[in-house]
Amino acid sequence: MSPLFDGETGPRECSEPKLAVNPFYGLADPAAGMLEDPPRTRLPDGPTAPDTAYQYVYDELMLDGNARLNLATFVTTWMEPQAGKLMAESRDKNLVDKDEYPRTAELERRCVAMLADLWNAPDPRQVIGCATVGSSEACMLAGLSLKRRWAQRNADRYPSREARPNLVMGINVQVCWEKFCNYWDVEARHVPMEGDRFHCDPQGAAELCDENTIGVVGILGSTYDGSYEPIAEMCAALDALQERTGLDIPVHVDGASGAMVAPFLTPDLVWDFRLPRVASINTSGHKYGLVYPGVGWAIWRDHEALPEDLIFRVNYLGGDMPTFSLNFSRPGSQVIAQYYTFLRLGREGFTAVQRATSDICRSLAERVEALGDFELITRGDELPAFAFTTAPDVTAYDVFDVSRRLRESGWLVPAYTFPPNRQDLAVCRIVCRNAFSADLSDLLMEDLTRLLPELRRQPHPMVTDRDAETMFHHDQAE
Ligand SMILES: *Cc1c(COP(=O)(O)O)cnc(C)c1O
Repeated sequence: MSPLFDGETGPRECSEPKLAVNPFYGLADPAAGMLEDPPRTRLPDGPTAPDTAYQYVYDELMLDGNARLNLATFVTTWMEPQAGKLMAESRDKNLVDKDEYPRTAELERRCVAMLADLWNAPDPRQVIGCATVGSSEACMLAGLSLKRRWAQRNADRYPSREARPNLVMGINVQVCWEKFCNYWDVEARHVPMEGDRFHCDPQGAAELCDENTIGVVGILGSTYDGSYEPIAEMCAALDALQERTGLDIPVHVDGASGAMVAPFLTPDLVWDFRLPRVASINTSGHKYGLVYPGVGWAIWRDHEALPEDLIFRVNYLGGDMPTFSLNFSRPGSQVIAQYYTFLRLGREGFTAVQRATSDICRSLAERVEALGDFELITRGDELPAFAFTTAPDVTAYDVFDVSRRLRESGWLVPAYTFPPNRQDLAVCRIVCRNAFSADLSDLLMEDLTRLLPELRRQPHPMVTDRDAETMFHHDQAE
């Protein structure tokens, strides 16, 4: 449920008599005993004993899904106990307070340097970057730099009615790019899907560019099907455009997932700062960076790519620290956990972890294909994620039924339709992450195989459009 409650979806105060909670909870501390359900939409009148409050909140959270069975998300659901310990020990450190916590600030700097090196920045001394709350904040910052650079180049025309900035990208972008365009008044120009092409087409992107284009976004990889966009080809199409027209359009790579997969599994794939046109790259430390939620990274090739006038220097915490972020205070523990993970695994460790995840994913995709009822859209050979749809001769059920029935066994496998021009296509998507073991993938196959005879006996697909609407949206499936 969204924390942005409105009258419709917000929690309702019960008009019936309040239900008593388990009497044991009150008996544990008779003085502060809680036998009545506490109010949900206003502060309780008095305090509750810590054990009682703990048990009450714990019980409430039991109804959340089991994170490890969640095959919908790219976000890390397991870390080693040592990482958890470090995070617990550092949760009082405020990342913005770089003067008070200089060692935490130093670990952030080291992470930025390591990522710049991993992504083949030509001159590490020129690189500039920061930790963010996730890829969404990182994309906002990268988008803002593109917009500011364009505004500076067009100072004679902007702002004016004719000069409305636009950003070119595939229709398959993650929702953060829609947010960026909406929040900062940039026109979103989308390259649609076509036929069997489920992500951006380099030629199509170049054709949408004009003198008001602030940049082109390339995605490594697409959340719809886990495929990598052809970043090098996009850059080549923009090189050709520059030769023809003089327009010099920078590229940002949204590597939320893939920027922590490709360097280890396909090091020869050229998608990063080796391409001179790539100005900036983001990743989610909390996806294949293997850290619990709350960390992302944005890295710019050099100071030219990140206009100096976007950077604030704050002196009132003591010191003179440059910051570029949408937030101010935020926990330092995720950054510390990222550094721990880098130190813990190294290149070899990361390669082993991502390789294992990828192997499990590709084998699972093959087994789903071998069932005969499904067609694979992707095979898990780029991101360790794959999408599949029902074969044309399957008419008794559809992917929404598969998603619903798997949920009965605890598996969260989203089903959703594709965007224009392939709205006709509905898929299930399975994301494999570290700690989704070969054992768990066997159990998933068992459940799916057991369900199939029942699904085949259905008279027709059971999930109505309306049910489908309330089940999963692609944008929630992150
Ligand atoms: C997940 C994702 C995002 C958003 O990342 P958060 O870290 O959840 O903010 C943006 N782009 C892509 C391609 C993603 O996969």
